Amino acid sequence: MTLWWARRDLRLADNPALLEAQADGPAAAVFAWTPALHFWSGRRRAHLARVLWSLDQDTDGALGVRRGPAPDVVLAAARETDSRIVHAAREFSPAGVREQEEVRAALEADGRELHLIGSPYAVAPGRVTKSDGTPYKVFTPFSHAWRDHGWHSPAPTADASSMRALTSDMSLDQQAAHGDAEDPLSETHEFRESQILEDLRAFIEGDLARYAAERDRPDLDSTSHLSVPLAFGQLHPRTILAATGAVRSDAARVFESEVAWREFHADVLHHHPSAQRESLTPVLPDDAWVTGRDANDAFRAWRLGETGFPLVDAGMRQLAATGTMHNRVRMVVASFLVKDLHVPWQRGADHFRRALLDYDHAQNQLNWQWVAGTGRDASPFFRIFNPETQAEKFDPDRRYRRRWIPELDTPGYPMPMVDHKAEREVSLAALKQRKSV
Ligand SMILES: Cc1cc2nc3c(=O)[nH]c(=O)nc-3n(C[C@H](O)[C@H](O)[C@H](O)COP(=O)(O)OP(=O)(O)OC[C@H]3O[C@@H](n4cnc5c(N)ncnc54)[C@H](O)[C@@H]3O)c2cc1C
Repeated sequence: MTLWWARRDLRLADNPALLEAQADGPAAAVFAWTPALHFWSGRRRAHLARVLWSLDQDTDGALGVRRGPAPDVVLAAARETDSRIVHAAREFSPAGVREQEEVRAALEADGRELHLIGSPYAVAPGRVTKSDGTPYKVFTPFSHAWRDHGWHSPAPTADASSMRALTSDMSLDQQAAHGDAEDPLSETHEFRESQILEDLRAFIEGDLARYAAERDRPDLDSTSHLSVPLAFGQLHPRTILAATGAVRSDAARVFESEVAWREFHADVLHHHPSAQRESLTPVLPDDAWVTGRDANDAFRAWRLGETGFPLVDAGMRQLAATGTMHNRVRMVVASFLVKDLHVPWQRGADHFRRALLDYDHAQNQLNWQWVAGTGRDASPFFRIFNPETQAEKFDPDRRYRRRWIPELDTPGYPMPMVDHKAEREVSLAALKQRKSV
């Protein structure tokens, strides 16, 4: 027998690690509910439980979900099923790589092997390089080389009926119910693989046509909402690209380029693991940031959506209520925290980690660096989003802002907490100071 260690690839379709596990006969499947999950928000944990519940249903109850550190859980399941080889998808985030090495060491000490195959990306991080073998620093040339490199067609869907059952030591129903109080919209976050594939098909046949023109409009619902299933590995980007590849339109190419951003950020983090905490390009002097109580007060107003800047507040309230936020608004709120309130990007990224349902370490940390202007890509620090003009341009009828701020046009809504023009100058002066060092 062989064992499939499911981690961030919670699907039956297009799953090379699972297929490999089944290649020589029946396979068993295990998921480790590790102590690290306690640091996730209740909402994200509840969603994970629903995703696992759905995968378990799709495999006729074969999935074993067990509490404990991954090396203990995987080794115990390998012994129990007498599996000499354990198959898993290769991880690329620093924490994922560390965990896989720990599992490998535990298995090898017991005379077993860990086989890693595939990745959560169409092209594995590290594969696309310049002709001299060095990594790309800038997105556009990366995306061209990424397209030239190409990707495999999706792998066939695994045979779920032949899986050997493994018992679970926890109740997924109970875990899934935990988040409900916090998650009034839980029903709108789809968690069944079959429905996600159906949603992808519906998007390609429907909203994709409007995507290029409307994707920056938070008041319109024109984006794919696929980031959550991508974060949980319920969908592989290859499956998306196979579907868009069949469509001849500018919108399809624009959409693919967004998927390429996901691959670019993973590539950058792969080459620079320290980018998860440290600025790739430290643009400001250390004393340019506010500290102590001032920083705490500013951060609190931002977090609660009480800055007096309606687009920022609407975004932060959408995040608190639903665990998601439109991409354009993510950029505006992130820029506001760093360049108007002078709070380091890492603090905002930590808040997003706790709040986002689609949290993905590479995407979150590198997008924060991109907005903060501390990355290696062409986005410069001096590009500072004006929250008012962004609102007029991308929410012209104020629908998005009104939806999330019921008291918007009443005296109950706060005055702007800072003068954007003045704070912009403060940031630019700090930038000059650094440059002159
Ligand atoms: C500060 C900040 C933090 C972010 N944190 C995350 C995160 O933790 N997880 C996450 O998945 N995305 C993150 N993003 C990227 C982006 O906001 C979301 O992927 C997007 O809003 C998801 O909605 P969608 O699936 O409808 O996107 P669509 O517009 O339909 O795009 C399709 C897919 O392309 C990818 N994509 C789109 N935009 C980006 C982008 N800027 N960077 C990387 N991939 C992209 C996503 O996988 C997305 O699902 C962040 C962006 C910012 C500015």
